[in-house]
Formats: sequence, structure tokens, C-alpha cells
Amino acid sequence: MRIRYHHPIPNFYKIENPLNPLNTVSDDFLDELNDFVLNHGFVGISYSKLSDEFKKEWGIDWDNILILKYAMSEDILKMDDSKEKTILEDKEFQEVGKWTFEIADFLRKNNINADLIHPLDDAISLRAIAMQSNDCIILRSNMCMFKEAMNLGFFMIKTSIENLPYKKENDMLWVEDFCSTCGICIDRCPQNAYDENEKLIRKVCTAHREGCSKCMLICPFFKQGYEKVKKRYDRKQAR
Ligand code: SF4
Ligand code: SF4
Repeated sequence: MRIRYHHPIPNFYKIENPLNPLNTVSDDFLDELNDFVLNHGFVGISYSKLSDEFKKEWGIDWDNILILKYAMSEDILKMDDSKEKTILEDKEFQEVGKWTFEIADFLRKNNINADLIHPLDDAISLRAIAMQSNDCIILRSNMCMFKEAMNLGFFMIKTSIENLPYKKENDMLWVEDFCSTCGICIDRCPQNAYDENEKLIRKVCTAHREGCSKCMLICPFFKQGYEKVKKRYDRKQAR
């Protein structure tokens, strides 16, 4: 059973899914969707196409996923651990949840099937879906990082659109090597929340109970940003 980060989000759909949904859209529509998403407070979209193998493994029959990424407030993340911090984090999560329903309604209005994959659904791992985008990486600290920033959260929508701009290869795999020589997050976790195989012990980690964000705040990717760390890594490799 997954430890709950947040309260469930109520259903905010205002529009029904279309009876005869479109399976393909134009590049112009994708641009329009991107603008709509950015204007609703998200920082970007990634796209996952789930393979037959993946669908079989998770017992699902849908495969086209929009990953809507939002920046978690740095002001909140930098607060001292407290119940108040977790309440503010949940408030932010609920707000972004509402935006996600607006994106789904926009798609539905344009004759596209769109359904939120509920972030608290235990039946499927959103991180596993995210990794299928080839646009993120799971860090040694167990966080899922996209290039735009480390403090990104995400919501997902499954859609009928088949021709999304899926990435075929993941160019972030170098991060695994970088992490293997770093380990700051493991060494400095105040709760020793990683086991001997460096697997996060969720019931020991206080992120959800008290809002601990330390492993994010001390990570070079958070402090310097992805591109700077990559440049430094590349320079070192070239020596
Ligand atoms: S602190 Fe170091 S080891 Fe941990 S996730 Fe960040 S880069 Fe990787
Ligand atoms: S959030 Fe805090 S307690 Fe949890 S793993 Fe990171 S540093 Fe440790």
C-alpha cells in the first residue's frame, strides 16, 4: 500500500468525453494545446507511449499519455518541516489538480478523449509511466527528475491522440553514473530512510508526515539546475 501524499482530488470535469473521439491531431493543434497548458500554470508537457509489454504488466488497455508538469513552490519546499508545510503542499496539489481537469475539458471540447489518471490510484505507478516518456530519470534519492527543474510534480491524462511527439531515446541516462559517485542525499538524510540497497523506506521518510524536502534541496540538480550539472559532468568525462 502506497503512503498517501495528498488528499483525493474531487472530480471537476465540466464536459463529457466525445462519442467519436479523434485519434490524430495536427501540429497546429499540438502547439495550441501546449500554449493552453503553459497558460494554465504548468511548465511543460512530456508524452508517454505505453508499450504492449508495459500494458500487459500493469493490466491496462490505454497507452497515450500526456504528462503535465508543474513547479512545486520553492518557498514551500524551503520551509522548516511541519504539519503546516504538508498542508500547503497539499493545497498546491489540489490547485494543480483543478488545472488538470481544465486541460482534460479543453481536449474533450476538441473531440479528444481525455481522462485524468488519478495520482492516488494504487493500481499503476505514475513514475513507471513517466519513465516511458524517455524524458525523465529516477535519481538515487528516488525522485523522478525532468530537465526543466528538479522540483517538478506532475499530473497525467490518458488520451485518444495516437500521434503525440513521443521521444524514442532517453538522453538523461548519464545521470545514473553521476548519482553513483555523488550520494549526498543518502549520506545526509536526517532519518536514514534508505536501506542497505539504497531503497527508500517510505515509512521512515518524513516527507509526507512533516514535509521533509532535504534530499531535494541538497541535490546538485536542484541547486545548480540540470544543464550546469551536465556541462560539469561532460567536462570531467572529456579529461
Ligand atoms: S544528491 Fe547526488 S546522488 Fe542524490 S539524487 Fe542528487 S545527484 Fe543523485
Ligand atoms: S525526504 Fe527527508 S527523510 Fe525522506 S528521504 Fe529525503 S531527506 Fe530523507
